[in-house]
Amino acid sequence: MNLNGKCAVVTGGGRGIGKAICLKLGGLGADVAAVDILRPEAAATAKEVETLGRKAVAVACDVSSPAEVRAMFAEVVDSLGGVHILVNNAGITRDNLMMRMSDDDWNKVIDVNLSGAFNCCREASRYFLKQRFGRVVNVSSVVGLMGNAGQVNYSASKAGIIGLTKSVAKELATRGVTANVVAPGYIDTDMTRAISEEARSTLISLIPVAKLGKVDDVADVVAFLVSDDANYITGQVINVDGGMLM
Ligand code: NDP
Repeated sequence: MNLNGKCAVVTGGGRGIGKAICLKLGGLGADVAAVDILRPEAAATAKEVETLGRKAVAVACDVSSPAEVRAMFAEVVDSLGGVHILVNNAGITRDNLMMRMSDDDWNKVIDVNLSGAFNCCREASRYFLKQRFGRVVNVSSVVGLMGNAGQVNYSASKAGIIGLTKSVAKELATRGVTANVVAPGYIDTDMTRAISEEARSTLISLIPVAKLGKVDDVADVVAFLVSDDANYITGQVINVDGGMLM
C-alpha cells in the first residue's frame, strides 16, 4: 500500500485520531495538510509529517465556515499542488440530556460535525471532479448507529454523516471518486479521557474485546480506504469498535 503522489486534507489534524491519520498517510507517502482550528497544534502535526520526508502544511480553519473551508482548500492546493484525499475527522461533543440541551449546543455540534463535513466534501468535489479522482473518508461514530442518551446532537450529526457519505458516493461514483465512513467505537483520546473512571469501566464492559481502541486502529482503516487497495469500495460504513455494535 502506498500513497505516493497523493495530497491529503485531514480536518481536526491537530490531535487525537486526526493527528494519527496525518502521520499514517504521511508514512505511506502522501503529502498532508493538517487542518485545525488552532494553528499551533496543526503545525506540530505538519512538522512530524515532514520528518517522514513528506511535504506538509498546517492550515487554521473552522470547518463550519464555508468561506474558511474554501480558502483552506485554495491554500492547500497552492502549497501542496493538489488535493486527492479528504478525511473529515474534525468533531466536537456538547453532551447533555435532551431536556436540558440548549439550542446552541444542538446547533454547534451539527454545524461542526455535519455541516463541516458537507462544506469540505462540496469544496473538495470541485477538485476531484476535474481530475476524475478523489477519496473521501468521513469519520462517524458507533453512536451514530446506536444512539446514546445524553448525545442527541452528536448522534444525529454522526448518523447524518452516513447519509451524507452515501449520497456523495452515489453522486460521484462514475467520476473516480469513492466516499466511505469509518465509525469508531470508544478510542483513547482527549475526547474520551473526559469520561469518568466509573463510566469508562461500564463502557469497557460493553466492548467484546474489553478495551478502548487506539488512534492507530482508526488511522489504519482510513489509510486502507484511501489507498488503491480499496478502489472498488464506496458508500460503506466500516465499524472500528472492538465488536461493540455487533
Ligand atoms: P479530539 O477532540 O481529540 O480532536 C478533535 C479535533 O477536531 C481537534 O483537533 C479539534 O481542534 C478539531 N476541531 C474541532 N472543531 C473543529 C472545527 N470547527 N474546525 C476544524 N477542526 C475542529 O477528538 P478525537 O480525536 O477523539 O475524535 C476525532 C473524530 O473521531 C471526531 O469526529 C469524533 O467525533 C470521532 N470519534 C471519536 C471517538 C473517540 O472515542 N475518541 C469515537 C467515535 C468517533 P482543536 O484542537 O482546535 O480543538
